[in-house]
Amino acid sequence: MAKWSLDQIAEWTQGQVLSRQQTTFSEVGTDTRQNLTGQVFVALKGDVYDAHAYLDQACAQGATALLVHELPEKFQSLKEKVSIIQVPDTLKALQNFANGYRRSLKAKIIGITGSNGKTTTKEFTAQILGTYRKTHYSQGSFNNHWGVPLTLLSAPVDSDFVVVEMGMNHAGEITQLVHIAEPDIVVCTMVGTAHLEFFGTQQNIAKAKSEIYLESKPECIRIFNQDQDLTFDMMYPVARKYPESRMLSFSELNPEADVFFKIETLKVKELHISGLIATEHGEAIIPIFGKQNLVNLMAAATIAYACKLSPEQIWKALPNCKTAWGRNQFIQTEVGAEILFDGYNANPDSMRALLDNVPRLLSQGKKIGVFGQMKELGTQSRAAHIDIADVAGSSGFQQIYFIGEDHEAFAEGLKKSGFQGQSFVQAEFSEALGQQLQQDLASGDIVVVKGSRGAKTERFVPFCKPLN
Ligand code: ATP
Ligand code: MG
Repeated sequence: MAKWSLDQIAEWTQGQVLSRQQTTFSEVGTDTRQNLTGQVFVALKGDVYDAHAYLDQACAQGATALLVHELPEKFQSLKEKVSIIQVPDTLKALQNFANGYRRSLKAKIIGITGSNGKTTTKEFTAQILGTYRKTHYSQGSFNNHWGVPLTLLSAPVDSDFVVVEMGMNHAGEITQLVHIAEPDIVVCTMVGTAHLEFFGTQQNIAKAKSEIYLESKPECIRIFNQDQDLTFDMMYPVARKYPESRMLSFSELNPEADVFFKIETLKVKELHISGLIATEHGEAIIPIFGKQNLVNLMAAATIAYACKLSPEQIWKALPNCKTAWGRNQFIQTEVGAEILFDGYNANPDSMRALLDNVPRLLSQGKKIGVFGQMKELGTQSRAAHIDIADVAGSSGFQQIYFIGEDHEAFAEGLKKSGFQGQSFVQAEFSEALGQQLQQDLASGDIVVVKGSRGAKTERFVPFCKPLN
């Protein structure tokens, strides 16, 4: 069944139909390198590329409609082949298109923000809801001014729930995403220090994150993390602005919260939790690692509760939660060592959250830390690398590897910590470094791998000979 008619898209985007060929569509694309068969191609203009130069390519890839801000002279003949809508601004049109479609959906829309753990919470939420109902969710970290519209537009018409990750680098960005998605349920999982270079203080980050609560519609259900002052305090202005709004909360400290979880045992392969969802006591063993994930699990369970799943259903579905690529992934190796691969990304908060688990990790062999540069820290980069190496050096590792620009700072931090083990600290990754790791790896060892996306710490993994 087609999702949209040409006229509907033109109305939502306030566009003008320049040519009318195909008139029904179900998918949207923005990348001419991908298969666009039957899709509406939205010609976005980026800093480097302007898709208006590749309209012929979009049609060659199968697009049957084009959303453009102008139709260049050389492409006038495309009018005979595909439908074309002209709008003043294609990005704004994509957002309006998504908002128009969102309004036509019967699905409940869930908006998730937070400094760390957005994708993880989104995946957990989708896994719990998806156990019982038709659930659509963002791909990867599609969480910005074009990722959110594309997530909404890719939702099937008959979805019961659409889970949308919402990210930000600057104040006002969450507001814009909230206006596009008009969520029915929202949460800010936690406030950390990611993007501190743009915001100056953590209070400013919290203020920008709280837009998810303040800018959502009055009847939206708002979910709060009680355990952080910065997220707890977001409740006051919200309660003043929306005295009638339903507010739920989660906590690992307060059993009175709507969702209260605590960790029973922490293993590399699993997290054993117990607690209360509303008044229903329960326990679950979840195949994920790390106490930092408790926040994400509580947020997901509270969302599921707001979606009217029963506490019993939620307890039953919790063991289905898994993390996405590079987020605390557990990998076994040929020699019988274990890798905790957390190399999707890193900032000081998520690095600390990971390191916090290391002293409690039981290992029969060595504990080996493999770290990469934490990027985007601006003027605080050097100091942050000294600090994190200081923590890493006293976390119980026997060997520590580091690659990245701040290698000198990292070495300084290790020295400061009094680290007595072996360290391999250098500016760039090298084959020799991977081979060193391979040579030292033995049965029973645990290798913890983490760095920023750009540091590509996954390059170490093949040297450990993973089994899965
Ligand atoms: P991005 O802003 O890059 O989209 P994100 O907020 O979606 O990130 P995830 O991809 O879920 O976050 O996780 C990124 C990293 O943060 C992973 O290393 C993960 O282990 C860590 N992490 C996840 N949840 C938390 C948390 N609640 N507190 C601290 N670190 C966390
Ligand atoms: Mg993400």
